[in-house]
Amino acid sequence: VESIPVSDLALHPRRGGPKNLPIIEYFIDDDDCPEKKEQKHKPKLVILGTGWGSVALLKGLNRDEYHVTVVSPSNYFLFTPMLPSATVGTLELRSLVEPVRRIVHRVGGHFLKAKAEDVEFSEKLVEVSAIGPDGKPQHFYLPYDKLVLGVGSTTNPHGVKGLENCHFLKDITDARLIRNTVIRNLELACLPTTSDEERRRLLSFVVSGGGPTGVEFAAELYDMLNEDLTRYFPKILRCEISVHVIQSRSHILNTYDEALSKYAEERFAHDQVGVLTNSRVKEVRPDSILFSQKDENGKIVEKELPMGFCLWSTGVSQAEVSQRLAKKLDGQNNKHALETDTHLRLVGAPLGDVYAIGDCSTVQNNVSDHIVSFLRTMAWEKGKDPETLHIHYNEWRQVARRVKARFPQAANHLRRLDNLFQQYDKDESGTLDFGELRELLRQIDSKLTSLPATAQRAHQQGQYLGRKFNKLAQAAPGMRMNEVDYGDLDDAVYKPFEYRHMGSLAYIGNAAIFDFNGMSFSGGLLAVYLWRSIYFAQSVSFRTRVLLAMDWGKRAMFGRDMMNF
Ligand code: FAD
Repeated sequence: VESIPVSDLALHPRRGGPKNLPIIEYFIDDDDCPEKKEQKHKPKLVILGTGWGSVALLKGLNRDEYHVTVVSPSNYFLFTPMLPSATVGTLELRSLVEPVRRIVHRVGGHFLKAKAEDVEFSEKLVEVSAIGPDGKPQHFYLPYDKLVLGVGSTTNPHGVKGLENCHFLKDITDARLIRNTVIRNLELACLPTTSDEERRRLLSFVVSGGGPTGVEFAAELYDMLNEDLTRYFPKILRCEISVHVIQSRSHILNTYDEALSKYAEERFAHDQVGVLTNSRVKEVRPDSILFSQKDENGKIVEKELPMGFCLWSTGVSQAEVSQRLAKKLDGQNNKHALETDTHLRLVGAPLGDVYAIGDCSTVQNNVSDHIVSFLRTMAWEKGKDPETLHIHYNEWRQVARRVKARFPQAANHLRRLDNLFQQYDKDESGTLDFGELRELLRQIDSKLTSLPATAQRAHQQGQYLGRKFNKLAQAAPGMRMNEVDYGDLDDAVYKPFEYRHMGSLAYIGNAAIFDFNGMSFSGGLLAVYLWRSIYFAQSVSFRTRVLLAMDWGKRAMFGRDMMNF
């Protein structure tokens, strides 16, 4: 019987690397097969993760330029912006995912359902672990010429006790669990043996975190309770149900325009979704949540809220593998993400052939460099020495507008600079104290953690790398790229990455809000249709678009499927 190779990979493993693990070869060394012989000479590109960043990169890569291997524990791409809709059955889980093998196939690559554990930078090896047929983890090395880290982030626990009593919303499994728990609680609340007190607890839903994910989940939950509950659970009274959002800041959606976050709060107040601002969760118990709240007089009051369901959605922190890599590298000073240069190359990686994109990464901040360079240009145009430059407030506003468009995350610090400039204008001293300005600029750079951890940014970075890798492949056919001999090839073939903020949007329960670079608006049904159309257009494939349209149609005709399994 002739044996049939299941994959080009792993057929002739040799051992090596610091841990003496099998090193997986990328091709069958078969000179009789021209196709396979040709593959031997292609640079090996290993991509870790199948999220927004990695998929945008895969979609942008020219076929057959690289020998691509994608490693991820998830063999699908998840369209996260619509995940809150799947937690209550507005959309089906399948409509939000695209099998990643379909995307990898486009570039003629391999996919491994496995997890990156570590990287041996000097030997260009990624340590990978996969659960084998015997249920035990198997470790091996994958060699690379170029490595892209797109491993995303994890939920930030903020050191709070009892998070095992919470749900999270990062992945498709989380959405399934949430859906099952919500329906389970509704079913339990209907049992004749359930006491009134217990019923109120089961029907108390708490969301910890007033960012877009928490707010959108609360809105979807509210929609479901209002639209389908009375029909299918007539025994439950609407007044017995409560939905609360606990937010540490003074407003929910605090990264959006102030008017929009107020609109969302008013909408929630109208819909009887309780918003508890200036509140910090201390502990989550199996049946209640403890938090402290600052009252109007600034006094801290401890409170306890009985609950049957809690969603923990309070921001992101570094994935385990990213933490491990950051510790190994010089120049990685950011606790929240792996730092890259503006070409998205990992700071400290010795050969300049490792890139990091999306939530796991942050581009080293150079906001102050930009401000200083804008000011220097202005001084030069006026024929003045920048050290003694006096600029008027109007001129400063122009500089600030340009910087804010480029670095939306600098908005707060720019406001402080703005106050400083106004003071100078009042003084009419005619001289700007560059020392004080520099101190403020230094603070801007150290306090800015990263560009926003959004799909938008990850997608743009993936697209950027796709375009650059195509250029690199054409610029250097057959040669091993980025070796010191060739200098900074990245810089030679392509411009540095520039983030363009296209705006933010959020669903807030039969209404939606939009914040497009200073232009903000909100509204009811029309806005909801606009919100849907934007995501519909951005959806990853024709297949998912068809499924989304079918889900919306099905829900409009028959309501949501109120069952757990
Ligand atoms: P991810 O998309 O998180 O993908 C990470 C990938 O890495 C996954 O495939 C994972 O399985 C894989 N991985 C993890 N560990 C390893 C490992 N050790 N080895 C190999 N692979 C690994 N952003 C917006 O812009 N707009 C929105 O409306 C929006 N809504 C959101 C709603 C929700 C519910 C959530 C959770 C997020 C939302 N976001 C939104 C944020 C957005 O999803 C993230 O910013 C985006 O997913 C980041 O993309 P990424 O490629 O960096 O990582």
